Amino acid sequence: MELYKQQKIKIYNSLSNQKEDFVSLNEGYIGMYVCGPTVYSNVHLGNVRTFMSFDLVYRYFKHLGYKIRYVRNITDAGHLENDADVGEDRIAKKARLEEIEPMEVVQRYTVDFHNVLRKFNLLPPNIEPTATGHIIEQIEIIKSIIDNGLAYEVNGSVYFDVLKYNEKEHYGILSGRNIEDAIHNTRVLDGQSEKRNPQDFALWKKAQPEHIMRWPSPWSDGFPGWHLECTAMSTKYLGEQFDIHGGGMDLKFPHHECEIAQAQAHNNVTPVKYWMHGNMLILNGKKMAKSTGNYILPEEIITGNNSILSKPFPATVARFFMLQAHYRSILDFSNDALVASEKGYYRLMNAVNLLDNIQESKSSSIDISNWIQSCYDAMNDDFNSPILIANLFEGVKTINLLVEKKETLSSDDLKTFKATFNTFIFDVLGLENVTSTDSSEKLSNVVELLIDMRNEARINKDWALSDQIRDQLADAGVQLKDGKDGTTFSI
Ligand code: AMP
Ligand code: ZN
Repeated sequence: MELYKQQKIKIYNSLSNQKEDFVSLNEGYIGMYVCGPTVYSNVHLGNVRTFMSFDLVYRYFKHLGYKIRYVRNITDAGHLENDADVGEDRIAKKARLEEIEPMEVVQRYTVDFHNVLRKFNLLPPNIEPTATGHIIEQIEIIKSIIDNGLAYEVNGSVYFDVLKYNEKEHYGILSGRNIEDAIHNTRVLDGQSEKRNPQDFALWKKAQPEHIMRWPSPWSDGFPGWHLECTAMSTKYLGEQFDIHGGGMDLKFPHHECEIAQAQAHNNVTPVKYWMHGNMLILNGKKMAKSTGNYILPEEIITGNNSILSKPFPATVARFFMLQAHYRSILDFSNDALVASEKGYYRLMNAVNLLDNIQESKSSSIDISNWIQSCYDAMNDDFNSPILIANLFEGVKTINLLVEKKETLSSDDLKTFKATFNTFIFDVLGLENVTSTDSSEKLSNVVELLIDMRNEARINKDWALSDQIRDQLADAGVQLKDGKDGTTFSI
């Protein structure tokens, strides 16, 4: 496989809005920063999708042999409600509502985040820094931006001077927003605001007496602005310039735009070479989001305890479902889509199991090099996992022909074929083979059989039997739910 690993990769760069040849800043090394979660509630499946997109990127670069340093932060301070510069800190608010310490909120949801990502087989990043662990670094950056004349202090708070910055640089370079239009369209600030212009954003906020998450600084006891932590942590661990910065599409503006401005104002260099943005997971036609209540929790997929799915699905099936879409495409979550993905997933795993027992022949009747190349081509074209998966299904066809002895592979070719097929499925896509280790599919089939028997009992008005099936399943930990589309179950 070594030769295949040397080829050019194209990455869609949100800065230029086009695919570009990937050339790392230091040959053989890659620095990648991805904005992590704000740990004030359980992550929903949409969050998982974004982190999974970058898990795929990380896994592929590792497979290619790069020394990649992957930094993904934990936001545990500074992220206010509505992503705004005023309002309550999300974590402090949760702590107030639950009557616990903010750091208890942080701990609870950081643990949940890690548990969920482990279940979906995401590799941990190399460094996972927290905002509260980098207050000093953030203060140093603010000082430097003030020294460079691009931030100002008012009443103990410090704001980034967007208009001044925009005289020399381009605020809007990433999001395509035009600052002049924005100025034109916003009303003049009401007398309450301390900002010189509405576009300015907070680097440091003086804490009101009731704000408990606070740190000393040269300007006031307060807390850093949300955008600053990522500039501080990415610079600290990856340098003033690094290769890849990722996050969900919804973070492009203002968060990433502000990150660029801060880093440029601080170091006088463009911080990131390739900006990558993952697209959204959609539910019921709308973005999956905690704030609107339009979401499904990862755990609810695994248990089946939800109103969207007809049955439980293993986490790896949900992973496969998400990787069947390209990371830059919108993806719609639905029961039908998951059922279809599950079928495909088991076809793939079945082929993995068959491949284990295929015997080598003296010679090969097929040339496998084109197929291998097509797998690499898919991933080299901006990490196109759906095309890779289509190619793996071509591999499944070959496996079936080998089983039927209609085609043959020599010892060397069989080894290469197996290694490629398994590497892409397990190392690159990060799928897990649950057929051999997990009996959940068999259990599902048995429960479906009992549901059918119960339906028949109900048609025959044998209520005693139908109740017995329902009650004894409940005793065994399987809940049946009767709905307008039939009976579903959760475990
Ligand atoms: P947050 O904790 O809200 O900052 O979100 C963590 C990450 O999840 C960010 O990169 C968001 O862009 C991403 N995200 C939020 N909602 C969705 C969604 N519905 N689909 C995909 N990614 C999302
Ligand atoms: Zn960030």
